[in-house]
Amino acid sequence: MSTRPQIIARERRKLVEEQERIAGELERLREAIQIEVDVDAEEGDPDLIEREKNVALLSQLEGRLARVQAAIRSIDKGRYGTCERCGKEIPTERLEVRPDATLCLTCQVEVEKLIKRGQMPRDQQELE
Ligand SMILES: [Zn+2]
Repeated sequence: MSTRPQIIARERRKLVEEQERIAGELERLREAIQIEVDVDAEEGDPDLIEREKNVALLSQLEGRLARVQAAIRSIDKGRYGTCERCGKEIPTERLEVRPDATLCLTCQVEVEKLIKRGQMPRDQQELE
């Protein structure tokens, strides 16, 4: 069983690593997208398909990077481990199992029920 500060430090390290990984990947993708595609390339051209794939991946990664950075900020502001929905402290035992949890168990169950009933947009779900 880890103590809360240990879990927080571990989680922050993981997030920083993730941030670096995503930033590197984004750089690679941006370069790939800049490569010129023939002006007369037609629909279905492999270069175009490849570029569209990269553009989609790029925006996906940008979203993930934003979430990772938001998580790091919340740790730095001392908000890590606080439920985003009810503001109660998320128990250390839960953080140990799910260090990326942003909701306490009660709220998590509630939110999952709402999602199942289709009352909440998918993008408000907990991180992955
Ligand atoms: Zn809660």
